[in-house]
Formats: sequence, structure tokens, C-alpha cells
Amino acid sequence: MERRYAVRWFLPVLAAFAPAACRAPGVSEEDPSAHAHLRTRHVLFVTIDGLRPAELFQGADPSLLDRKKGGVRDAKAARARWDDPDPVVRRRKLLPFFWSAIAERGQVFGHRLSGSPCRVTNGRNFSYPGYAEMTMGWVDLSLDSNAKRPNPNPTVFDLLRRTYGPGETLAVFGSWDVFPFILHEKRSGVPVNAGWSPLAPFFGRLGKKIGPTLEHDLRLLDDLAAALPPALGTGERFDAFSFEGARACLRALRPRVLWLALGEPDDWAHRRRYDLHLEAVHRADRFLRLLWDEVQSDPSLRDSTTLVCTSDHGRGGGAEWTSHGARVRGSEWTWIALLGPDTPPLGLRRKTPSTLSQVAATLAGLCGLDLPRFEPRAAPQLKGAVIPGP
Ligand SMILES: [Zn+2]
Repeated sequence: MERRYAVRWFLPVLAAFAPAACRAPGVSEEDPSAHAHLRTRHVLFVTIDGLRPAELFQGADPSLLDRKKGGVRDAKAARARWDDPDPVVRRRKLLPFFWSAIAERGQVFGHRLSGSPCRVTNGRNFSYPGYAEMTMGWVDLSLDSNAKRPNPNPTVFDLLRRTYGPGETLAVFGSWDVFPFILHEKRSGVPVNAGWSPLAPFFGRLGKKIGPTLEHDLRLLDDLAAALPPALGTGERFDAFSFEGARACLRALRPRVLWLALGEPDDWAHRRRYDLHLEAVHRADRFLRLLWDEVQSDPSLRDSTTLVCTSDHGRGGGAEWTSHGARVRGSEWTWIALLGPDTPPLGLRRKTPSTLSQVAATLAGLCGLDLPRFEPRAAPQLKGAVIPGP
């Protein structure tokens, strides 16, 4: 955020975080972005667990399209589907929406060959610390496991909830059942639907009417989920259910901030199934397109919605592509992408290093809030990613 805006937000934001009894008289829970000349009124945040920069920037790795290294069941079919001598063609095969829309009209951070590495700074390079880093904006070294431990630190979602109050919808749909703990749902008050939790009752918790057709559709999805084998484990549902929840929320409630947290690309990689990993990444790209289609078809979302995408960690190289962690070289690299009305269309960013921790202030900035003013440990916004108009 530019400095001229920062001072203006300081007092209202502090007031928003103070308990109601301590709030200065006359300070309302107004929408700060109304004053920031931001065109963004809705933020769509999508995370793709464990999608490493190698596949994002170069498409499928030809050396893994086999049974031995990649665990690919039908190597001939996989090569026909994903391979090409040109990495630019390969990445467009894998992520057609990302490279035709986000990279063309938005910005992409994390291409190391362009001088723009994006680093995970928590030193752990696995999921809980990664999601904590990207939502808190700083690193708490005590967060050192994926256990269901409530995050002791506020995230940017705490700030958003307190700022907006109950009038604006914030919602999170995640495939992994640890998200309610990472966001400390009870403390933050941000509703999180995750794991195999049913969707229809969750919409009841959002406190807004969604109509009988959508209610019926959600119940059908819940019936289907209950009828499927938990192939990824009891703590992780298929991404399709998280996506359908997020799409229904976007369509019916036009949330102020919506987070869709996809998990399958990481799961299939851990199982050493490169073919299924690539299919899951390709589905994630399709989900992005469908959500963006939803935005474009709704006049109240079009031209006022910003999409932010990232991943919680990278993965190793060579035979270590299945893994990530403190000892897995390469898994400290990730990427971040944005598309929206306040993001200049610079495409692949050059000579602009970044860190995963900058995501939190960037999300706050898109809502007109200066996170480092509230949390001095938070990393600044991504440079040049959000430029409010005059
Ligand atoms: Zn993992």
C-alpha cells in the first residue's frame, strides 16, 4: 500500500481490532476500500497445494512421464496428453487458463530465470507452516507440524472479519481438514468448510438465504460425498467438493473474500503418481476458469474481483519430486499470481524477488488495509501487484 493511504487506515483498523467496549465513539466498521480508490470489492483466493514452480512454468516434466520415476500407469497416453519439446506449449497444455488469462492479463511471481524467485521463508516447507506464513505474513517457528493445533496467531482473516463485521461474507472451502485450525475458526469467526464436512449445513452457518435450488444441489453433493470411498484419507476430500462449495458461495452470496484451498496435487505426488498429479493440477486450472467465468457473468462481480493464487510450498527435484520439507532441496520455491482490476497487466514479473509471506499483506491491501501497520512482523505487499487508481 502506498504511504499516503496508510495513515488514513491506521486508526480505523486499530479500532476494528479493539474490543467493542474500547472502540472510540464514532468509529464505524466502514469498508476501508471505499476510500482507497481500489476497484476491487471481492477477493478470490485459490491455493493449489504442492504445485511446484517446475510444472507451473514448464509444464509436465518429460523425465517423469514414465512408470519408473513417475509411477505413470500408461506412459504412452500421458506423453500424448502432456508432452511437447517446447516448455511453453507444455505449460499451456497443463494450465491453459492460467497461461492464457492470468499470465496474459495479470501478474506471475516466482520465475527464477527471470530474476523473480518466490521463496517459502518458514524453513519447514510443508503445509501448516506454509498456510500460516501466507495468511499471517510472518513466520512463527513454533508452528512445526501439521497437527490440528489452533494457530495461536491472528491471520489476515482475523483482521478482515473484525473490519467487516457480519454484514460481509467471508468463507473458506478447503479439501484438508486442518484449515479450521490454521485459521482458528473459533477465535477468528471466519467460517471454514473443510475435509469431508457436508456443504449444505455450512451454508446455513453463513447466515444468509441461498434458495431452495442451491440447497437441493448442495444436499445432492453431500449425499454423493458420503457415498464415496475416502480415497485420499478421512482428513482430505476430493477437490471437486471444495470447488463446488466455493462456486455456490460465489454465485449465491458474492463474498467479500473467498478462499478455495485445493489439495489433490500434493496427495497424488506423495503417492508417486505423476499422471494423477498432472490431472489434479489440470483440474485446478479448470476450477480457476470456472470461478472466473462465474465472476465475468455477474455484473456485480465483474471488474471488481481480484483473483490471487499461490501454493504453500514447492517440491524436490529429480527423484525427490514426490516430497517436500526442510531437507528436500527445491521445496523452498513457490509462486504467486494475481488477476484483477487493480493489478497492472505486467505478466511474468522480472527482477522482482518475493516471499510467500507477502501474500497476507497483499490480500489485506486488496481490501484497503495495510497489514504491516497492524502487525509489524508482516512482510510488505508484493511490489507493484496492487496499484489503486487515482
Ligand atoms: Zn505434502
